[in-house]
Amino acid sequence: MDQQGEIGAARPERPGGLRTAPPGVLPYYLAVEVTAVVLPFAVPSPVPTVREWVFFAVLLGSAVVQTELSAKAERMRRFLASNPHVTVTSVWFFAGALSLPPLLAVVLAVLVYGHFWLRTVGGVPGARPYRAACSVATHVVTVFAVHAAAGLFGGLAGTAAGGLTFVLVNNLLVLIGFKLHDPACPFLSFAGSASENLLDAATLCLGAAAAALLVVRPLLVPLLVLPLVLLHRGELGRRLELRARDPKTGLLSIAQWRTRAEAELGRAARAGGHCAILMLDLDHFKRVNDTYGHLAGDDVLRAVADAVRGEVRIYDAVGRFGGEEFVVLLPGIGQVHSVAVAERIRDAVAELAVVVADGTRIAGLSVSIGVAVHPDAGREVDEVLGAADKAVYAAKNAGRDRVCVSRCGIARPSTIRPGARASPDGAAS
Ligand code: GH3
Ligand code: MG
Ligand code: MG
Repeated sequence: MDQQGEIGAARPERPGGLRTAPPGVLPYYLAVEVTAVVLPFAVPSPVPTVREWVFFAVLLGSAVVQTELSAKAERMRRFLASNPHVTVTSVWFFAGALSLPPLLAVVLAVLVYGHFWLRTVGGVPGARPYRAACSVATHVVTVFAVHAAAGLFGGLAGTAAGGLTFVLVNNLLVLIGFKLHDPACPFLSFAGSASENLLDAATLCLGAAAAALLVVRPLLVPLLVLPLVLLHRGELGRRLELRARDPKTGLLSIAQWRTRAEAELGRAARAGGHCAILMLDLDHFKRVNDTYGHLAGDDVLRAVADAVRGEVRIYDAVGRFGGEEFVVLLPGIGQVHSVAVAERIRDAVAELAVVVADGTRIAGLSVSIGVAVHPDAGREVDEVLGAADKAVYAAKNAGRDRVCVSRCGIARPSTIRPGARASPDGAAS
């Protein structure tokens, strides 16, 4: 994970900063910084040509414009950040390391990072200059390593070797820092999510593209700024969306779900189509908590959420209504098929065997489901939701572990008996 040397960027600052950090942190920071100071003297760097100065100016100018355009979004990303935090400015460092003599590439890295830090990290509460110093040192060491690896092979193989070295060296330096800060956490827990690693890989690809473009048409390199700004904003959007989700289950929060439901019901009204809403309520869930404890109950809620998600299409919306109640939006689906989906969900919950932290296996779960369909049950979200809610109560009153359908405001059991499987036309098999 390319953290761009922001070791512990998103970690709340401990009072006393470095003085109270675990043993090993200070010596490690010093070792990286000393290496960064020694390398420029130890490694010979040719005097840059005029062409290389042009490359330098193009990369620096592009980086400054990109940072300016991304500064607000980056401050917001850092505020929401989880460790590690990918910084897209690696595009310019990487391109510089591939295309410039090492000393000039280091000057580029320091200037780009300095500007980036002042415009983004420096404005976030808890930012500490010692972290910036270590970040700069990490860049310097990474730039030398990339330059050496790329020089060994040259051409396309050199670019690939440089990319690999960038990932390895940068990640290693950052992950060691994390581990020293949090010795109890497993090393791999710092590796970042799949989407963060994807963003990291995308920035390296753009860096390689910038380096290739420099050779043939240097003045076209600034064209990469806008795609990078959009990539960065897209990542912020993803983070905001994730943060707004229900933290326990990862399902949509009720506010997010309602926004989707309003849009889909509006679409169905315009197109004269259907849209179904399922309301789910776990049966006797209080007993699960009372028997196994609330943490085990949370594990069961997560497993049920995953099971529900597994039974619907990618464009259906599953939300947590509250407590042990879930809502499912099925756009374009009428009564027959929505009952079939509800029965599939009921089966999936019945088949769950949740192994909780202490190894206990919790099975025998069941769920009552109410089904209501737009426009028969109403035109507004609250009307359809209210009808689905009444249908849940009907299912509870009828003995639980079943699906009930709201028809013209009256909730009735679906034609399917508990335990029977639904066929696509809604008849019991
Ligand atoms: P019924 O079949 O009538 O729905 O019975 P029930 O026990 O599921 O319903 P009741 O409303 O009596 O209890 C709901 C329980 O859900 C009580 C509450 O402690 C539990 N609950 C709600 N939210 C959470 C949560 O986030 N985690 C856990 N572990 N339990 C929760
Ligand atoms: Mg309930
Ligand atoms: Mg319940």
